[in-house]
Amino acid sequence: MPKALAPEISTWPAPDPQLIGSRCSDCGAVAFPVHSRCPRCSSGNVAETTLPRRGTLVSWTTQGFLPGPPYAGRETAEMFTPFGVGLVQLGDVVRVEGRLTENDPDRLAFGMEVELTMVPIAVGDDGTETVTFAFRTI
Ligand SMILES: [Zn+2]
Repeated sequence: MPKALAPEISTWPAPDPQLIGSRCSDCGAVAFPVHSRCPRCSSGNVAETTLPRRGTLVSWTTQGFLPGPPYAGRETAEMFTPFGVGLVQLGDVVRVEGRLTENDPDRLAFGMEVELTMVPIAVGDDGTETVTFAFRTI
């Protein structure tokens, strides 16, 4: 059974996993990941909320070299495959930055619909796979 890089930020391994954010009861602002105080009004009146699974691509780039620490992937520079990174507007709720399953910028476009998925990021010495969230185009 794979394990999540950050189990607290999504409902995975539930089917159709969703990211978990926080919603402020005072001003309605939604944040990801969960904030203990509202980033808009500083209220402590926040509660966890699940975020929409689908959104639209707002901006993107390609990570073309092996990230430095604290990157949790275990590739060597020789094994590394460039990956896409995107800013995604989830519904009209919140913007989230995350990996994209597409790494060719020519195949990405502003407003493209994307959906949350989980992708393998590392395999431990005991063979356990670690997964993290990503967005795939739909
Ligand atoms: Zn607030």
